[in-house]
Amino acid sequence: MKPIQMVDTKSQYLKIKSQVDEAIMEVLDSAAYINGKAVTDFTQHLNNYVGSKHTIPCANGTDALQIAMMALGLQPGDEVITPSFTYIATTEVVALLKLKPVFAEVDPNTFCIDPASIRKLITPKTKAIVPVHLYGHAAPMEEIMQIAKEHNLFVIEDNAQAIGCTYTFSDGSKKKTGSIGHIGCTSFYPSKNLGAYGDGGAVFTNDDSLAITLKMAANHGQQTRYYHDIVGCNSRLDSIQAAILNIKLAHLDEYNNARKSVAAFYNKAFANHPKITIPFVADYSDHVYHQYTLQLSGVDRDALQKYLAEKKIPSMIYYPVPGHKQKMFDQLGLEKVNLEITDDLTSKVISLPIHTEFEQDQLEYIVSEVLNFINK
Ligand SMILES: *Cc1c(COP(=O)(O)O)cnc(C)c1O
Repeated sequence: MKPIQMVDTKSQYLKIKSQVDEAIMEVLDSAAYINGKAVTDFTQHLNNYVGSKHTIPCANGTDALQIAMMALGLQPGDEVITPSFTYIATTEVVALLKLKPVFAEVDPNTFCIDPASIRKLITPKTKAIVPVHLYGHAAPMEEIMQIAKEHNLFVIEDNAQAIGCTYTFSDGSKKKTGSIGHIGCTSFYPSKNLGAYGDGGAVFTNDDSLAITLKMAANHGQQTRYYHDIVGCNSRLDSIQAAILNIKLAHLDEYNNARKSVAAFYNKAFANHPKITIPFVADYSDHVYHQYTLQLSGVDRDALQKYLAEKKIPSMIYYPVPGHKQKMFDQLGLEKVNLEITDDLTSKVISLPIHTEFEQDQLEYIVSEVLNFINK
């Protein structure tokens, strides 16, 4: 049996190696390392794929969130509602820009921000909501957009974990996540569903004037070279990464389907187990399984992880410490919040290996060892 990895980017690369190598050589040959044709091509293809009006590539997913918040012209002290149960980048950027992160509770089934919690946290200072499509499942965007409309708030989707996920509205219409809010953000970190071989990110919007400001924010505040109208930053996707991503984008649906097959295999094995809750999929959301995350009850999670590690099966806790308990926010003097569901999930979740390159014997082995331990 091939060794089991959380993510197997190498085997995935080997299947498209000749195309990728050729695309990299083309960039080297063109010497257009920054803003070359590869970047223009990829941006266009990604824009079509996501179904957004504008796509602005940038250096990574954290920058994408920062650029989004910079472009909205938020003022220090403005409040931004985000889930606490997310990767730190989402909330760190809020604090970096001297905005105030306000931590909302999540839905214990979907792991995504709970609209009822958002409603309770809105104050006159609230300016934006940042839902995160965690693990590859969409946050309830229809209701979030409704709340935003009622209170005149911006919505920035953190789509770093859900590129390719389709959202179904109550009228039956469909959109890709990342194209629903005022701004969408994504990451091409190598382990993401659409991963580069280095860093990368992108910002999406359907708003023409926001698109201009987003581009400026990512490029030293300039529209015309050397005329800097706003304070921006320097955040670019380089041409080699764009060329690689352009090839991988053509495989994204196939990659997401491979993840869904792995999840289906796991689901079948773990469904109806009294100590295991398998991932929930809401009727409005697709699931592209950036992570396959179980909730355990009555299982010693540390001991399970240790057992699996001995059996050479990696597993991860995403995330062991929620935002509202991170030291970095202590320094901001935020009022203490009590997020029971988030704290509870933090102690219950475990993510099993998921990627596009599994062999059947590996999956069977993982399932049997997890059940071996839990049924013991
Ligand atoms: C990966 C990730 C980011 C940040 O992306 P980077 O490219 O690593 O900067 C932001 N938010 C979430 C939810 C992520 O998973």
